[in-house]
Amino acid sequence: MAAEEIKEKGSNFIREIVKQDISSGKIKQVVTRFPPEPNGYLHIGHAKAITIDFGLAKEFGGKCHLRFDDTNPSREEQEYVDSIQEDIRWLGWDWGDNLFYASNYFDKLCEWAVHLIQKGKAYVCDLTPDEVREHRGTLTEPGRNCCFRNRSAEENLDLFTRMKNGEFPDGSRTLRAKIDMAHPNINMRDPVLYRILRATHHRTGDKWCIYPTYDYAHGQSDAIEGITHSICTLEFEAHRPLYDWFVENLPVEHKPHQYEFARLNINYTVLSKRKLLTLVTKGFVSGWDDPRMPTLAGFRRRGFTPSAIRNFCESVGVAKANSTVDLAFLEECLRDDLNKKASRRMAVLKPLKLVIENYPDGKSEELEVSNNPEDPSYGTRMVRFSKVLYIDREDFSPDPPPKFFRLAPGREVRLRNAYYVTCTGFKTGDNGEVVEVTGRIDEATRGGSSPDGRSPKVTIHWVSAADSVEAEVRLYDRLFVKENPDQNEEGKDFLDHLNPDSLVVLKNCKLERSLEGAKPVDIFQFERVGYFAVDRDSSENALVFNRAVTLKDTWAKLKNKK
Ligand code: ATP
Ligand code: MG
Repeated sequence: MAAEEIKEKGSNFIREIVKQDISSGKIKQVVTRFPPEPNGYLHIGHAKAITIDFGLAKEFGGKCHLRFDDTNPSREEQEYVDSIQEDIRWLGWDWGDNLFYASNYFDKLCEWAVHLIQKGKAYVCDLTPDEVREHRGTLTEPGRNCCFRNRSAEENLDLFTRMKNGEFPDGSRTLRAKIDMAHPNINMRDPVLYRILRATHHRTGDKWCIYPTYDYAHGQSDAIEGITHSICTLEFEAHRPLYDWFVENLPVEHKPHQYEFARLNINYTVLSKRKLLTLVTKGFVSGWDDPRMPTLAGFRRRGFTPSAIRNFCESVGVAKANSTVDLAFLEECLRDDLNKKASRRMAVLKPLKLVIENYPDGKSEELEVSNNPEDPSYGTRMVRFSKVLYIDREDFSPDPPPKFFRLAPGREVRLRNAYYVTCTGFKTGDNGEVVEVTGRIDEATRGGSSPDGRSPKVTIHWVSAADSVEAEVRLYDRLFVKENPDQNEEGKDFLDHLNPDSLVVLKNCKLERSLEGAKPVDIFQFERVGYFAVDRDSSENALVFNRAVTLKDTWAKLKNKK
């Protein structure tokens, strides 16, 4: 999906449903929930779900619960519970008092399992997982009943109680709903409600050795909490009949409904927690908050703003059909936001000395420069000019090719906010590399304009050598070279498509003095270069910056050239 296409969208069929349910009097107040499983950090796909769940509640004066779907203790951890809360707050949403855990309902769920057993609607099954699969049938063939299906309610009750009391080994038995093994929807072929699993739960500890499945826990949690619109992604569409079956067959007071929307996919990255975890555990990235990760923690560290991500999530809309959004569109949302918000600074990432021959040794002067030409309320700051400056290596060519209009021998350019300078020569080192450039300024052009009205084609940025601070700057690129790294290719997996150049570290970059003391996550526009955020690896005397995004979409330029 291209950026223009997306910006026109922003439609939301779920909003229409909610609107109607309110105006028809079917519900008084909308109650949604965001139900993360605490088995990883939140990613940009979750941000979309959060925007829908919290956004609808806000728009219609309702509530959105944060509910941890913690039914699988073997993969869940407190670290994830904490990071998820931090990320949702960072995005600007607040669940107030409505923080819940599916594990809060383990007792109730167990009670309801007994209810199903008593009604002859659930049974204990001794098949192994392989046998269960084999009995289940396929999309084209019905499943088969197993011999345990006819156990009496008394026997089931006894066995289930003993399962719960820890009398049987892990995986040896399950509690299954008794629905229909020939049902066209495989999810309805006697799905598992409980499995035996001895794992310490991050909240309930060792209290339980049986745990409910997602399907059994989710809808009932919704019912207990009075959720009106249980919004989830499309892969749960085929689970909806089961969701409704539980609601019909259990003595729940409240009957919630499930609605599905298409999950967000973005090119050149992966959005599966399992794959993201692999990147972390195998050391392909530095952690869940590596600035190349599509996690909210990664985006935050990289310099993305909550409003950029919210705008993005709102612009991509809510659809029923799966699609992939261009990474470039997400970056465009960030540029839009930072263009208004980020203070401008000068920073030279690949420094090359420029000596001003007609500027006195030891002299320096302060020039007043604007912090944000888009918004005068950002004020001005003083920047020091002196004889020895740094300019970017890429802004000078000893032998300029056609269309290179930056500094070159005999050529005049504007030093941003300072003077016009004409290059008088350059020095090379042993290997022929340019090591120093010399030039002369026109004193009449102080402040960056000439009384005679002439104007150089190009303005370059600079930093005074004596008044600069050093920094490490980390440049990031797409994590994967392949547009859809998830796509299965013979003999390859997503790790085979990692971009070897996704991180480039530049040392000894020279920044204007005013950046001294910048703190994580301060974000600036380095003029002509991009938007940069202070990384948490920074210390008192060693600044580290992350490039959040370039000023222009460099990939689009490359694509157009092709
Ligand atoms: P993953 O595939 O990354 O493991 P998940 O669905 O297992 O994701 P959950 O923690 O269960 O992760 O997700 C919480 C909520 O976020 C669910 O309602 C889920 O539907 C939604 N969600 C997850 N991934 C996306 C996505 N890519 N786009 C939109 N919503 C998503
Ligand atoms: Mg899930």
